Amino acid sequence: MANRTDALFRDDAYLRTADAKIVAVNDRGGIILDRTIFYATSGGQPGDTGCLERADGSRIAIAATLTGETKDQIIHVPAPEQAVPQVGETVRLAIDWERRHLLMRMHAACHLLTVVCPFPITGAAVSEDDSRVDFDAPDAGFTKEDITAGLMELVRADHPIFVRLISDEELAANPGLVKSKNVRPPAGTGKIRLVCIGDNASVDSQPCGGTHVKSTGEVGEIHIGKIEKKGRENRRFRIRFGPMPAN
Ligand SMILES: [Zn+2]
Repeated sequence: MANRTDALFRDDAYLRTADAKIVAVNDRGGIILDRTIFYATSGGQPGDTGCLERADGSRIAIAATLTGETKDQIIHVPAPEQAVPQVGETVRLAIDWERRHLLMRMHAACHLLTVVCPFPITGAAVSEDDSRVDFDAPDAGFTKEDITAGLMELVRADHPIFVRLISDEELAANPGLVKSKNVRPPAGTGKIRLVCIGDNASVDSQPCGGTHVKSTGEVGEIHIGKIEKKGRENRRFRIRFGPMPAN
């Protein structure tokens, strides 16, 4: 059962609702649709929550969204004790937009951090109120204040954030685009999704399949909450919303 799901959020991260058809319900109750606006957990960004509204107005609450056997298949995991929809049924999808928008702002903030801290990335996790990015970086005397100032300079400049599709060959010719130390973008699919910041990607561009806001200004006020040492050459940066608290 490897039904491919048309991932509408890849072309438009701002879709809050859409109609879709039930393609299958797997043996664990996971719902597969022909198309979806629900982002599935991957690349450090958690999947969406929300609901599927049926023709009679009743709702099936979705507690999590995951990828299936392949990355092209998206599984909508219902909350406990929800009705089971029929294959072929059309439903109206609605994501928890407030949560998703926070994740889009945070995810974009993580990209900004990789501009301010140009070191190889060893890990990242986005969440609504606190995100982290791990870098393979020596102790270069970073301070929360300096990094926050660098981030806020990018936010205030209100640079556009957009997606450009490039070929495997273009990526191979520009190895510097990949900032992850251990994770390589999937090759062989023909097209790589490059997330660009700034006019003509002047600020940054890197392969990413997540959802982001459309400008750095929309990220809003953020600060570095903590810089932690994780081993000799690893530094973990925590990003939080709002101004830096006064000590
Ligand atoms: Zn991203």
